[in-house]
Amino acid sequence: MIRIVPVKGDITRQHVDAVVNAANNRMRGGGGVDGAIHRAGGPAVLQDCIARFPHGLATGDAGWTTAGDMPARWVIHTVGPNWNAGQRDRALLTSCYRRSLEVADEIGATTIAFPLISAGVYGWPRMDDIAAAIDTIRETPTRVREARIVAFDERAYLEVCDALKGRGLLEPPANERLQPRVSTGNTSGTTR
Ligand code: ADP
Repeated sequence: MIRIVPVKGDITRQHVDAVVNAANNRMRGGGGVDGAIHRAGGPAVLQDCIARFPHGLATGDAGWTTAGDMPARWVIHTVGPNWNAGQRDRALLTSCYRRSLEVADEIGATTIAFPLISAGVYGWPRMDDIAAAIDTIRETPTRVREARIVAFDERAYLEVCDALKGRGLLEPPANERLQPRVSTGNTSGTTR
């Protein structure tokens, strides 16, 4: 079963196999998370976008390139619907999350980091975006083991945590997951 891990921070710094980019149809860079990914990845990301996607990508679809200079190995670019421009079909948004996982399976990525696709300049209501992200990630059959949802600011991060908690999916932080080591005089190394 896939683990969904909330993270507050910058997606370009995630040490995962693949980071997801909220791209646009042209796939030649842009603002927000797209700009951050192209800056952090360097020119190799744009070169690969041009070579592999000469005509860009359709809304709701996803495709991969190198991650260039980022710690991740791949970028999975996906094009979210532009709520502000009237693209309000939720199936397009859930398609982005699902197609990204399908592309991850194609390339063998087992750890992946998602931004909140469409929840920035494109204006998708954030709480609904978070619900779409979590529910689609859970429902999509995939070999991905860990999906991070990376929120750029504290408020979005707390909303992601709340949504996970409401579904019984919020894991305690790693240091609280460790079993307490109780000294029993037992030297076999087992704990009770
Ligand atoms: P869209 O055009 O799909 O709405 P944006 O890039 O404008 O994409 O915003 C998508 C989400 O990504 C927003 O919640 C925004 O706050 C967030 N975001 C922007 N930069 C970063 C970053 N470097 N790392 C993670 N999330 C980011």
